[in-house]
Amino acid sequence: MIEAQVYAAKRILVVGAHAFDAEVIAGPLAFVAAARGAEVTFLHLTMGEQGHRCLAPPLYAEQKRSEASAAAERLRIGWRSLDLPDGFLPSDDATALAVCDVLRELKPEVVITHWQGSWHKDHRAASELTKTAVFYAALPTLERALPVHSPALLLFGENWEDDEGFVPTHLVDVTEGFAPWREAAEKYELARGLSSFPYMDYYASLYRLRGCIRGTTYAQAFMSTSNSWNAGAGLFAPPVGSGAR
Ligand SMILES: [Zn+2]
Repeated sequence: MIEAQVYAAKRILVVGAHAFDAEVIAGPLAFVAAARGAEVTFLHLTMGEQGHRCLAPPLYAEQKRSEASAAAERLRIGWRSLDLPDGFLPSDDATALAVCDVLRELKPEVVITHWQGSWHKDHRAASELTKTAVFYAALPTLERALPVHSPALLLFGENWEDDEGFVPTHLVDVTEGFAPWREAAEKYELARGLSSFPYMDYYASLYRLRGCIRGTTYAQAFMSTSNSWNAGAGLFAPPVGSGAR
């Protein structure tokens, strides 16, 4: 059900804390969706510029910008960054409003971000900011430069740093996106041995593992919001199908 809804979307936005997070949370999915005609955008809240052992943050930010561009080109998607400070991603209303403006501009039907159960403070912030931004984007009395927009689906993707309480509730077939994802991810030095964490082994195995359960070669796992969150965030949409008079 969610797989069909995701691939029927014309516009998808993936919000990651650091450049390379969106790529692992939804990279293979992004390629498949784009190949089916969707406009997919990765929003990197920060470039993740603190993550290099030798390069000073401004230089690493520059490197990550070119890596993000090369990865997006391979996935045939767009990307942008809010260029917020890595390690100090603000979890506040001003930042949520900046994400809200992106939502109102791009009008995605599907929004994907981090699951909240993370050891990393920036990942927790990204999850919270995106939820708040979806709320603000739909709020009719909140005047911004652009009119309101309410995405139909908010999903939380799988990331090795966000595993606390993550349950692989929804599995999406991403088989045709696996090979392009591998090439896209390897545009990043992070995937080629910069970190002690074996990113490519982990995610290639994870997508295969999820595929075994989905009944496809590769799949990605997602969680969704609670029914009450969906109902609450949808309060401002026109009533549908209630039959009530
Ligand atoms: Zn991250």
